[in-house]
Formats: sequence, C-alpha cells, structure tokens
Amino acid sequence: MPTRSELVNRAAGVLLGEACGDALGVPYEMAAPPVGEAVMKGGGLGPYDPGEWSDDTQMTLCVAQVAARGLDLTSPRGLDAVAEAFVAWMGGGATDVGTQTRTVLSDASARSGSPHQRLTGASDALHARTGLTAGNGALMRTSIVGIAAVDDRQNTAEAARAVARLTHADPLAADSSVLWSEAIRVAVTQGRLDLAAGLNLVSTTNEGRWRDWIEEATAADPGAFRDNGFTVTALQAAWAAITSTDRGDGSAMHLQRGLQAAVRAGHDTDTVAAIAGSLLGARYGSSAVPTQWRRMVHGWPGFRAHDLVELAVSTLGGGRRVGSWPSVETMVDLGIPTLGIPHPIDPDIVLGSISDLHRVASLDVQAVVSLCPLGLTDIPAAGMSPRDHIEFWINDDSTDSTDSEAPNPHLDFVLDDASSALRQFRAEGKRVLLHGRRGEHRTPAVALRYAVDLGVAPELAQSSIREALPGIWAEGRLWEVAAHGA
Ligand SMILES: [Mg+2]
Repeated sequence: MPTRSELVNRAAGVLLGEACGDALGVPYEMAAPPVGEAVMKGGGLGPYDPGEWSDDTQMTLCVAQVAARGLDLTSPRGLDAVAEAFVAWMGGGATDVGTQTRTVLSDASARSGSPHQRLTGASDALHARTGLTAGNGALMRTSIVGIAAVDDRQNTAEAARAVARLTHADPLAADSSVLWSEAIRVAVTQGRLDLAAGLNLVSTTNEGRWRDWIEEATAADPGAFRDNGFTVTALQAAWAAITSTDRGDGSAMHLQRGLQAAVRAGHDTDTVAAIAGSLLGARYGSSAVPTQWRRMVHGWPGFRAHDLVELAVSTLGGGRRVGSWPSVETMVDLGIPTLGIPHPIDPDIVLGSISDLHRVASLDVQAVVSLCPLGLTDIPAAGMSPRDHIEFWINDDSTDSTDSEAPNPHLDFVLDDASSALRQFRAEGKRVLLHGRRGEHRTPAVALRYAVDLGVAPELAQSSIREALPGIWAEGRLWEVAAHGA
C-alpha cells in the first residue's frame, strides 16, 4: 500500500507532467525537430509563449475542473459539466483546436438535449458521416480521468469511454483513452508503468489488436510512429518514448528522458509529449519534474504549476478541497518565528521559515525557494514574479529515518534540483529566500547541498551550517544525503 504522501506526489505529477510535455513539444509541432535537447521556447501553432501549454492540457483542465469538484465523470451531471466546459473553452480561451473537436463542438450547438447529449449526438453523427473519428484528441485529455476514481477500475474505464465519446465516437479513440487512464491509475496507486493493465477493459473485438499494438511499441523507436495524429499511433509513440528510455532503475531522470524522446518522435509533438508526460508524471510524481520546467510552465486559464497540483490533488481526494493543502488559502502560521539568517557560504541566500515569506521586501530578496507546502495565496510571494518563486515537495515525515525511502523517492534528485534552482537564481543576480516551515530541517539540508555543490568540503559545509543555524536537525537521512549524495 502506498503512503498518502506517495499517492499525493504521484497524482500531483499527472497534470504537471502532461503540461510540461505539452509545452516542451509545442515549438516542434509539425516543424523541424530540436537540435540537441528540446526546450520550452514557445512558438508553434498558437503561437505560444515560452513554457505555455496548448489545447491538450487546456482540454484536460476542462475535465479536471469538473473532476476536482468530486463529480462522477460517468454521471449525466458530470458529463454535462465537462461538455459545458469544452464548449465554453472553445468560445473563449482556446488557442488552437483540433479539427475533429472543432467540428463536433460547433455542430453540437444546433442540437437538442442536455449538454452532453448534444456533444455525443454531434460526435456520433460525424462518425456516421465520415467514419474517421479516431484522431488523438480524446486520448490527449484523458489523463485526469485516471485519478478521478483511483479505487474503482470499472468506473475509471467507463469515465474514460464517456468523456472520449463526447467528441470522438470511434471505439479506438475510447479504447486508447481507457488504456491510458487505467495506466495512469495503476502508476499512481502502484508506482509502476503498465499499459497492458487495461487490456481487458477495451472493447472485446479490439483486445487482440491492442495487445499487438502495445507490444509493437514497447521499447521501439518513437519515430517509427511519426504519423501520430491517429489515436493508435499517438498512443504507440508516447509508449515507445517511455519504454525506450526506461533504464529500469526507478530514477526520476526517466521523466526527462522520456519527454525528450516523445518530442523527437516528430509531427504532433506536443500531443505525444503531453500524453507521455501524464504517465511519466503519474509514475515518478511531481517531485521528478525539474525546476527549469516548473518555473516556465503556464497556460489557459491563467494557471501555473501550483494550480495544476492543486487540481490533481483535489481530484484524487474526490473533491474534498476545503481546509487542507493544497487547496487552503495560506499555510503561513504567524506563530512560527522568522529567521532571515544569511547562508554562511553565500550571504545572498537568506535562510528562513515560512513566516519570512511575508517580509520578502524587507529582506530584499528577488526570488524564493520554498521547501514546504504552500497555500493558494502564498505563491508567488508579494511582489514576486511567478517564475521567481519555486516550490519543492520534500517530505519530512520520516526524513530522519535511515531506512525509509518511501516519503522521498528521489531525495537526491530533489536536493540537486533545489540546489540548482538556487544557483540559477544567483546566476541571474538575484538574492534568494530559502525557507521551509520552521527552517530547522529541510532548509539547512538544502543549504548544505548548495554549499557542497559550490565546492565546499562536506565536513566544512556541515559545520558552518550548524554554526549559522543552531538547534537544527543536523542528522538523519536528509542531512546525510545532502552532504554525501544517495
Ligand atoms: Mg496541442
């Protein structure tokens, strides 16, 4: 059984992973492949800002905003809400819309019935008219369905099928959505990658074909599925990108390797990378998404990384959003004393507690690295650009225990990433507030890793941090990994 923090971290990775894949693929959609690594440089069909996501994530968020309210996605009420959200999105906000989706959403307005009946009717009519409705537009928005009912395999499959059918009547579009949503559910609840897990949930007539298609794509070159506007080849390209870059070591780096491979598949790069990103995010969690991507990623409807995490975690919790992280307004507790202590090796890093967030102006910092859960109004800190305030999810439930890997599956990766965020900000000439909740545990550990990364000997780094911050937890697994690596 996964712990609550593992589940939350992995669920939080679903939308974040998808959005990052989308924004990474946007510049290369129907265009030349990246030279070297793909970067979120914007452009594409929007054209988009650097780091901005496209219709794939936008439509997923339409579904997510319904799921996060706890509405059952198989119920008429849930499907009506999704249908209304799609129509409203196309009317205002949509930056690019797939051909098939546009046709169905436009035709639906002339039909009668409830909102979801109008869409399903238009979708069925298009299929009857053309027989060509297996585009990848349903698959690309199905990830969130995988965490809307994590304990109910049948409901997940039914929801994936129903949400797909709103615009894509071809059974292959529904099947691909069922397979991907089930894979997301399995990744979040069991921490493994298994696209075949949903094979007995697809239409019986197609089960054998899907088994062959998955097998064909496993560990294959994603470029072999370049013609990926079709839902089958889009799924194959995404699965090939994931499986061909899996070294089987459980490393968080797989997420980045998989997304780079997805973009190199070519053609519908943002969609393939969005699909791949949702499953990689579900497997490795939000903590595996590197800082440079989390800083950049944003898009309709005015969301950034924290909002994606909030929606995903609320969806996982069945819509119970009130009063707990990440849906609370603020996590600041003014009973916690401020610190504001200069880092002993680099005084332009200010070590603090969560209460220091309220005095970024007087501390004269231009960037913030937060190591504890924040509320909706806490990020970005007052006067701070959203790109200059980064959150890290380092769990300190049992970081003092030497044997427990569970709460922080990629502790070394996260410490590295937090330290590199500090170096990025310093290279931009910014003074940085580095804070946890009390500044006693996570803050000194990241401060230590930063010092070591600057070339200070671990022993000297440890003693100077201990001296600067008396009364900290300068022991245990977090501290040891910060000093010496995993
Ligand atoms: Mg797109």
